[in-house]
Amino acid sequence: MLLKGKKALIFGVANDKSIAWAIARHFHQQGAELAMTYAGDAFEKRVRPLAESLKAAAILPCNVAIDNDIKSVFYELGKVWDGIDIIVHSVAFANKDELKGSILNTTRNGFAIAMDISVYSFLAIMKEGQQMMQGRNATALTMTYYGGVKVFPSYNAMGVAKAALETSVRYLAEALGPDGTRVNAISAGPIRTLAASGINSFNQILNRVEARAPLRRNIAQEDVARSAVYLCSSLSSGVTGEIHYVDGGYNVIGI
Ligand code: NAD
Repeated sequence: MLLKGKKALIFGVANDKSIAWAIARHFHQQGAELAMTYAGDAFEKRVRPLAESLKAAAILPCNVAIDNDIKSVFYELGKVWDGIDIIVHSVAFANKDELKGSILNTTRNGFAIAMDISVYSFLAIMKEGQQMMQGRNATALTMTYYGGVKVFPSYNAMGVAKAALETSVRYLAEALGPDGTRVNAISAGPIRTLAASGINSFNQILNRVEARAPLRRNIAQEDVARSAVYLCSSLSSGVTGEIHYVDGGYNVIGI
């Protein structure tokens, strides 16, 4: 019961394959009370039953590209919770055409969308959430990928977005540290999810990681979720601004 009595708001459940869903289940098992958002009407029918199965205190729509959607999540949550201990941001998006070929295919509009939904949304959520997190030793967690550090086939603008997200983690850690709020990221290895299905050459990446990672396997959503429990509990009370790899060790390999 590492998260007993903690109130956790989770952005990014799309279905039962979502990394955010594994995190939600593990948080629930550890005694956390949950609130979840879904990206729009099309997602509600999948997300609502999942959230209800964990007795979520609130299940709210939120398109993170819309400031008013983010504001109303915190407004609605303020009616049922007196504060928030944990925010999980497990959200990313790029148009499919951006995730094909080389980075030279990137368009101005596609780049802006990837940056807005995958990076700025974390800042926007933390700006709105700051007040409810104050003075609670709260934590925030986002999800990144090694493609923000090294070049992976077709990851393109999303790689640039992940680099910006990782830098945002460090700036947010500094900005919110005086409130006692910690901000970290998990850099997960490749996992088959809805978001991953948009990445060309994803199978190639999975095969390479399985062959070369020190653990000689790909990771699962549960591997990420267990590390999320660590990063969002007092077990990591001195850790902030950190990019924590959960990738079977793939990132340590040169040749
Ligand atoms: P997923 O598709 O289950 O989750 C992505 C989520 O982003 C979905 O819930 C989707 O609804 C949400 N989203 C997209 N646009 C949105 C918008 N405008 N407003 C609100 N929500 C929006 O896939 P996932 O793999 O669980 O992805 C979660 C996070 O993990 C992402 O940041 C992804 O980049 C990251 N990640 C994934 C992998 C992987 O291989 N699957 C590896 C490393 C990092």
